[in-house]
Amino acid sequence: MFRNSAERMRPVDVGRTVSVLLPVAVDGPYTYRVQNGLELAPGDIVRVPLGPREIVGAVWDDVPDGSVGHNRLRPVAHRYDAPPLDPTIRKFVDWVANYTLTPRGMVLRMVLRAPGALEPERAVEAVRIAGPPPERLTPARRRVLDIAADGAPWSRPALAAAAGVSSGVVSGLIEAGSLAVLHLPPPPATLPPDPDHARPRFDDGQSEAAEALRKMAAEGGYGVTLLDGITGSGKTEIYFEAVAETLRRGRQTLILLPEIALTTDFLDRFARRFGERPAEWHSEVSPRQRERVWRAVASGEAKAVVGARSALFLPFPKLGLVIVDEEHDGAYKQEEGVTYNARDMAVVRGHIGGFPVVLSSATPSIESRVNADQGRYRRIELTTRFAAAKLPEIRALDMRLHPPEKGSFLSPVLVQAMEATLAAKSQTLLFLNRRGYAPLTLCRHCGHRFQCPNCSTWLVEHRFRGQLVCHHCGHSEARPDRCPVCDAEDSLVACGPGVERIAEEVAARFPEARRIVLSSDLLGGVQRMRDELEAIRRGEADIVIGTQLVAKGHNFPLLALVGVVDADLGLAQGDPRAAERTFQLLAQVTGRAGRAGGDSHAYLQTYAPEHPVIAAIASGNREAFYAREIEARRVSGLPPFGRLAGIIVSAADRAGAHAYAGTLRRAAPIDTIAMVLGPSEAPLAVLRGRHRFRLLVQAPRGFDLQDFLRGWLAAAPPPRGSVKVQVDIDPQSFL
Ligand code: ADP
Ligand code: ZN
Repeated sequence: MFRNSAERMRPVDVGRTVSVLLPVAVDGPYTYRVQNGLELAPGDIVRVPLGPREIVGAVWDDVPDGSVGHNRLRPVAHRYDAPPLDPTIRKFVDWVANYTLTPRGMVLRMVLRAPGALEPERAVEAVRIAGPPPERLTPARRRVLDIAADGAPWSRPALAAAAGVSSGVVSGLIEAGSLAVLHLPPPPATLPPDPDHARPRFDDGQSEAAEALRKMAAEGGYGVTLLDGITGSGKTEIYFEAVAETLRRGRQTLILLPEIALTTDFLDRFARRFGERPAEWHSEVSPRQRERVWRAVASGEAKAVVGARSALFLPFPKLGLVIVDEEHDGAYKQEEGVTYNARDMAVVRGHIGGFPVVLSSATPSIESRVNADQGRYRRIELTTRFAAAKLPEIRALDMRLHPPEKGSFLSPVLVQAMEATLAAKSQTLLFLNRRGYAPLTLCRHCGHRFQCPNCSTWLVEHRFRGQLVCHHCGHSEARPDRCPVCDAEDSLVACGPGVERIAEEVAARFPEARRIVLSSDLLGGVQRMRDELEAIRRGEADIVIGTQLVAKGHNFPLLALVGVVDADLGLAQGDPRAAERTFQLLAQVTGRAGRAGGDSHAYLQTYAPEHPVIAAIASGNREAFYAREIEARRVSGLPPFGRLAGIIVSAADRAGAHAYAGTLRRAAPIDTIAMVLGPSEAPLAVLRGRHRFRLLVQAPRGFDLQDFLRGWLAAAPPPRGSVKVQVDIDPQSFL
């Protein structure tokens, strides 16, 4: 009775409320009042008050919270005239948040990355001749009209400048009706690719794979295909067939690449195949262009996007295909903020959206290989290189038998091969995955080692810059002339090599050769790296010395010799993924050689030629590596046979981090299935001034790890002071 009368007293429209998810570190949406005249539906992008300011959010699917009195709710301020977020991306945001144990707002934030894109792009203002000259025709006015005489549109300042007059003269001519203002539409962010622009001719090994992918895209529907083909087999050309078919169906395609900013070559290849470049999405794209791409994706106008992992969170309304190229690459894992693996989340997005996903690699991740072996993914295999190209002949070079001369890092065998390659006018790549000159500097006199003041790491000498640098926090200091501890002069020695030091040795041995050193330290940033990569492709270097930047995906047609300076480097790390990572890196880098035909060679300098990873690479027996590694993971219940989550507890002081890690451990639910390991001090014990302890949770496949963790963290005493807890589901890094 009471309830009814209360309801009747309420004016009809006042009761409307709506849930709005905001891009802040909060899991649930906020409830707002909807004012008369505003029609809102889930997915609409709105501006709402939050505290003293207004922020952009999205209407969400949750039922609005009815517990707050309607009169105490604040109203939605504005609805943007932008396309609403489609239900599949809303579900995706919820899914990713739930899986990674991140507040939903933080995941939405990745979707709303280009706030300027919500307003329509402003039209370009121009002036153009529109009528007869005015009666009062001054020389200045005449000059303007002469220039504009051909009828082409001019921007006002450009026209005034060209005529050498003030802008007032142009305004006067507009008032007089001789010139008219017009508004030109902004140029399109991207032009539609043509699926039939230049279709390749596939060879025998390729056509079946190409046809299978084309058919998969034509049928649509969820499914994951692992395109597992050796380097140079033509995987890109083949998955382009799936892209073409998706274009024909009028749906959007996303291609993810791990190092997109450096792969301008890829954009050209796309343009050769489809007549237009795809839209690009990565950190090197200017903010304005990002807004235009965001808008073009949201409107459905952008049919093909090539991007870094964050492109997965673009608001595609008609996504029909995602390709994850180099799917094994560690760059797909975001380690800060929302810790997600874009490869895995691409599969989730395909599942939610009901479309196919292609994972492509010459060295698939163990996870994807097992998924294919067990029938969850379809596997398409390519075992030969395209056309005349052959794989390089690979040899493990036992450094105990062929040691380098004193003070040098290259074995005489490798040096000889380099001489032969130079004589044949082909290119050599020396690969060492270590930036700088030397990874450690110490004082010969007192033994002092230079350490980062913020991290538990040695400072790396960068001799070109004359600096000692921390590769974890960026700290750098000038390399002193004397030891800061014992004051000895000229006592500092560089221990071990980085690429700069290898470059020094190459310069001494081959003074005539044209050399390029490539690492992310290159002055001039991304543009310079692109230029250098292009120079290598054109054959403007005889010897390239580089870090993993050169190992990935590039096509260097003249490259005939690869020397891996320290093949054992990655194996020393000893974490559960060290073998896999090293195998992938060595297979990728040796695979750069011989891509355009002719004999090619690769040497792995090693002190452990019998190590299974080195042996598998040297013998070319990929399957031996996979079989062994998969069996090892199965026996120890490691991914993908089991699930892992890392928990990192950090604090400004060691005692604080240690104490809370212990508290957390003691709060762990007693569980007979999940195993909690640790806490132990992290291998990278101090990072950016924060002391770190790690816990690791291991559980069988199928165990609800998220539920377990959520319950545990909710029940544990909350961290205080500077203590922070970070959860890393499916960790890649164990540092
Ligand atoms: P992968 O990605 O498997 O390493 P790519 O797709 O980069 O191989 O192909 C290697 C090289 O062979 C590239 O230069 C590519 O343009 C060329 N190629 C592969 N397949 C064809 C084809 N069917 N027709 C013409 N060129 C091809
Ligand atoms: Zn540091």
